[in-house]
Amino acid sequence: MAEQHASFDFHLHSCWSYDATCPVETYFAQAAKLGLSHIAITEHHQMDSLPEVVEAAKKYPQVSYIPAAELTVHTPKGTFDMVCLGLPQVPTPELQQVFAAYHNWQRNYGDALCALLSVEGYPYTRKEREILLKRYRPQKTIDVQGITHVQNGIQNKYLIEEKKLFPDADTKNNLIWNSNFSLPPYPEYDFVLPAVKRAGGLVFIAHPRGYFKINDLSRMDELREMLDFDGIECAHPSVPVELTPFYRQYCKDHGLLSTAGSDTHSSPDCAYQFCKESKFADHIGEKRYVEEILERIPAFHA
Ligand SMILES: [Zn+2]
Repeated sequence: MAEQHASFDFHLHSCWSYDATCPVETYFAQAAKLGLSHIAITEHHQMDSLPEVVEAAKKYPQVSYIPAAELTVHTPKGTFDMVCLGLPQVPTPELQQVFAAYHNWQRNYGDALCALLSVEGYPYTRKEREILLKRYRPQKTIDVQGITHVQNGIQNKYLIEEKKLFPDADTKNNLIWNSNFSLPPYPEYDFVLPAVKRAGGLVFIAHPRGYFKINDLSRMDELREMLDFDGIECAHPSVPVELTPFYRQYCKDHGLLSTAGSDTHSSPDCAYQFCKESKFADHIGEKRYVEEILERIPAFHA
């Protein structure tokens, strides 16, 4: 039986994301093998993998790519993951400031978490984070990004099973939640998203099921107004299939674009497998989503 898969995947994380392990080239190889026309590698908070994307594309000229990133923003109504497609290959000065803010945030957040746990009586140091990062991340990513925060599962396993600081993740999370010491918020939406748009990028609200309280139209309107997004990630592993047509119709009603992706973080041959529920190109997004997106932004191939 032939396996079902989409013709594109616009939500992928490579080892250049702090919580992912798949090499960039693997995505191009998989796309070529399955006959996908387009992919977008959407690292958390930066585009550090772009030079490798450009190199990999040379080996797989049949696969086009869209420069992209997934930027998480803080707002008065919560924190939201935004898939940004069509970013310039050379960031504008304004976008450079945005990426610098995220690079700082990732290191500061890691340091603040260590400080919080230590103040609360559970010692955890930057050196330990570095050791954990080196377990699953290539050195080249640490050289560029520094000692960031650590993938949650790896960190929990270390603090709970190896260091035996906590009996379980809930105990640790409750301690963080109830501490007087606060962790730094993500960069603000009104700093990040206008910079993306002025650089020619399109902004999509990612995996919106929770953000939209499933299908709460007034919540959807409220977030559309505040975030001013260009579109919605209508298909994603966390979006039940019956919701995809509902989100798609909302896009049509409001002149928005639709995107889709698998949110894959690892491939089956990676030593560390994160987000196992995601499988490359496994989503029900339709080819016409891509056609509509490409009327607004360019795709590239070698
Ligand atoms: Zn993601």
